[in-house]
Amino acid sequence: MSVSKFAGLGLVDPLLRALAEVGYDAPTPIQSQAVPEVLKGRDLLAAAQTGTGKTAGFVLPILQLLASRPAVKPGNGRPRCLVLTPTRELAAQVHASVVTYGRYMDLTSTVIFGGVNINPQTKALRGRIDIVVATPGRLLDHVGQKNVDLSGVEVLVLDEADRMLDMGFIHDIRRILKLLPARRQNLLFSATFSDDIRRLSDGILTNPVSVEVAARNTASELVHQSVHLVETHQKRDLLSHLIRTHRWEQVLVFTRTKHGANRLAEKLSSDGIPAAAIHGNKSQAARTKALDQFKNRRIGVLVATDIAARGLDIDQLPQVVNFELPNVPEDYVHRIGRTGRAGSVGAALSLVDGEEMRLLTGIERLIRRPIDRIQTEGFEAPKPSRASAPAPSVRPGRPGPGSASRGAPRAGGPRPGGSGNRRPPQGSSRGGPSRGSSRAR
Ligand code: AMP
Repeated sequence: MSVSKFAGLGLVDPLLRALAEVGYDAPTPIQSQAVPEVLKGRDLLAAAQTGTGKTAGFVLPILQLLASRPAVKPGNGRPRCLVLTPTRELAAQVHASVVTYGRYMDLTSTVIFGGVNINPQTKALRGRIDIVVATPGRLLDHVGQKNVDLSGVEVLVLDEADRMLDMGFIHDIRRILKLLPARRQNLLFSATFSDDIRRLSDGILTNPVSVEVAARNTASELVHQSVHLVETHQKRDLLSHLIRTHRWEQVLVFTRTKHGANRLAEKLSSDGIPAAAIHGNKSQAARTKALDQFKNRRIGVLVATDIAARGLDIDQLPQVVNFELPNVPEDYVHRIGRTGRAGSVGAALSLVDGEEMRLLTGIERLIRRPIDRIQTEGFEAPKPSRASAPAPSVRPGRPGPGSASRGAPRAGGPRPGGSGNRRPPQGSSRGGPSRGSSRAR
């Protein structure tokens, strides 16, 4: 392992030591581009999705900056760095990175999100806290209770800014911005650049450096994609069969509904395949437990809805299964982006029934290529008359008709309401369809 490649970015020893321990070989492109600029104190506008290594791209230089200078306004409950994320999962993951990379630095951090008891967070904020990673709504609750004072923030990060807008956090973000000192460093990460994101970044960033890295390897060579046509009622048996015969050990399965996720996890478990469901109706403790069990390989299958899966950071996931296709083609790209990360090859299989053929057509148009079909003996393809239903006119890069509101739950924000799961039009996003949708991710 050669941390020297990280040293070349100007990172100091305590960080290089931590990096040596996590075993990274070399910086990812976003890290190579972002780290030196952030270290210089520049504002940053970064087009990078989850899976590119963006978290280390901002956490590493921020740790270094904070450790290298005294606090501008030291005090208890007065963070020097604020990272805003759209979901609690992402907040937890970013915070885990702060802890991991910062383990040899004398900096303190905490994570704040809704859906859990506020008291432990309040307690954590009573001491010295250098870095706060938070979802916007719960952070404002703490502001309201005077648990946190944002007037000493030296560095602000908006992570997955497009997703925050999608989730209706713009007003919360604006309220938070008013509480920050005018003089500060700002970093904005977004997968796509809609007009809304441009407006937001124009209002926040000063003379930013723009960095852009290729889309996560979604829909790319690194993910082997296939489709298995199958009757709806056979899907669950087929999935059990495939997991067993291929000896898949870590599978992330997507369902469209929370109820469907629960039922499928139960069915797999009763088939002797340990599985858990993760979705917005589950308590944070239950979700964390399921994710931990999955990561530690105590359960082999995690069944998730789209929103719950957003921001999930699971290393080198080998297999993703779309138990049902998403209504919005861009979500397919998100989903398969959960595999084939950080240079590893992954596989994404979609189980498609007759009703979903038109969704499949929309997806193939979006990724601009047909997806391989596979078959399994004993599992019927849907009747051709239904399977060959005409495709809707979904234009590449745009949500299809009727996609404006999907039934999926909202995972992260502590506040109900907002703008649901609407996606901004994709027309102004850079990079064409393979960039995936506006994402948190
Ligand atoms: P992120 O895009 O920040 O969510 O990171 C995606 C994954 O890549 C995480 O699991 C990181 O631990 C991993 N990662 C980040 N930087 C590197 C690196 N330089 N080399 C290998 N893996 C990395």
